[in-house]
Amino acid sequence: MHIHILTLFPGMFPAYLNESILKKAQEMGQLTVHLHNIRDYATDRHHVTDEPPFGGGGGMVLKPEPIFTAVESLISSLQSPLESGDWRLETAGLPVILLTPQGRPFTQSIAQELAQQERLVLLCGRYEGVDERVRQHLVTDEISIGDYVLTGGELAALVVVDAVTRLLPGVLGAEGAAETDSHANGLLEGPHYTKPADFRGWSVPEVLRSGHAARIARWRREESLRRTWQRRPDMLLTAVLTEADRWFLGRLAEERLEIGD
Ligand code: SAH
Repeated sequence: MHIHILTLFPGMFPAYLNESILKKAQEMGQLTVHLHNIRDYATDRHHVTDEPPFGGGGGMVLKPEPIFTAVESLISSLQSPLESGDWRLETAGLPVILLTPQGRPFTQSIAQELAQQERLVLLCGRYEGVDERVRQHLVTDEISIGDYVLTGGELAALVVVDAVTRLLPGVLGAEGAAETDSHANGLLEGPHYTKPADFRGWSVPEVLRSGHAARIARWRREESLRRTWQRRPDMLLTAVLTEADRWFLGRLAEERLEIGD
């Protein structure tokens, strides 16, 4: 996957991208990240990228020209020029995603959707955000990483890059590891344990050390259901559940009634 990031601060990215699993994904050839400085596309002498808002009100707004130019030059470097003058049409097939607190809330299923793409463009706003015409006529999708406001889209872009990269084939090593993660199948994942088997008198559940694959799988499924029941019961309404899952959840409900909590 090729991810193009448009930002005023490309220097914010390398520290995170060049360590651990994101570094490995790039070395494997599964991920390439291209950082584009929006400032490089401002054609005036002082490379101005932001101006005060029309109508006053303080703050600065990212100007449309450098952002359009950056995306247009990216598109023309990727494909032969198209005839239409409609940039929404011309970006067809190339998702141009604006990070914004007003976008659709980012979820694991959006990460899965984006992981199918060959290329993504992530546009990071700053200050008061981007000129509305960028949103209306250039951007094809808008994503928010949560109901809070950051100073810029850079962290949000890294969140998207990270969540998408770990879904790319082979990146996590253990085949299927991403499939049991929280949210991947509509449930939270159960607890994990590692060595030592006994730590300060707190021991690892016996079943995990039994070597009995089917019992371990069932235990993990039940702990995943228990966690979800305790912390995010709303998720159980849409999760895909088997008969055995429903029976286990029924037992959890009864236990709760018995202890009267
Ligand atoms: N004035 C804007 C917020 C600007 S915050 C508004 O009220 O909607 C500055 C930039 O940070 C935004 O352009 C966006 O790119 C980024 N940003 C802030 N919060 C974000 C969030 N929750 N998710 C994604 N991007 C966010």
